Amino acid sequence: MYNSDQPLRNNAVNNLTYLTGYPAHLHDQVQQLIDDEKLGTYLLKRYPTVHQINNDRAVYEYCQALKNTYLKKSPPLSKVVFDQSIQVMKHALGQHTSVSRVHGKKLKNKREIRIASVFKNTPEAFLKMIVVHELAHIKEMNHNKAFYQLCVHMEPEYHQLEFDLRLYLLHLDHFGELYPADSFQQG
Ligand SMILES: [Zn+2]
Repeated sequence: MYNSDQPLRNNAVNNLTYLTGYPAHLHDQVQQLIDDEKLGTYLLKRYPTVHQINNDRAVYEYCQALKNTYLKKSPPLSKVVFDQSIQVMKHALGQHTSVSRVHGKKLKNKREIRIASVFKNTPEAFLKMIVVHELAHIKEMNHNKAFYQLCVHMEPEYHQLEFDLRLYLLHLDHFGELYPADSFQQG
């Protein structure tokens, strides 16, 4: 559908900043959805419900379970938290911290995952996409081909989910919340 290895380019033609780097025909389709006010309908049809993994303990367990399935031999995660200070796009859909720490006389790699708090109230598919993205960085620091191959290995729909997540962020900007914060029973 598109080549995620393409370098990002600025597109000043329209305001679809979340879709920078995607082909023009997708911009047109999305702009049409926005103009027709059908972006929310599109998203709700695909993703009718939100997850309930909305605290740090739950999201740690969620990450750990995925890591144990796909990256069993990598060093354990020291910490997984929701972080209000992270702006999703500024940090390329997540934030990756690898803190080197002196433990006794050994230098230990402390692997933390910080997830933008916007993911507290999203469909599970979006949370999974961002967690998969962060886990893939354990093995690949850069957004290169191997990185995306690993993402797709953990979540075959990775690219579609990343695209739809960008649509969701567009929806937040244009129309506000799609999923009421106090309602976990939708659809
Ligand atoms: Zn990344």
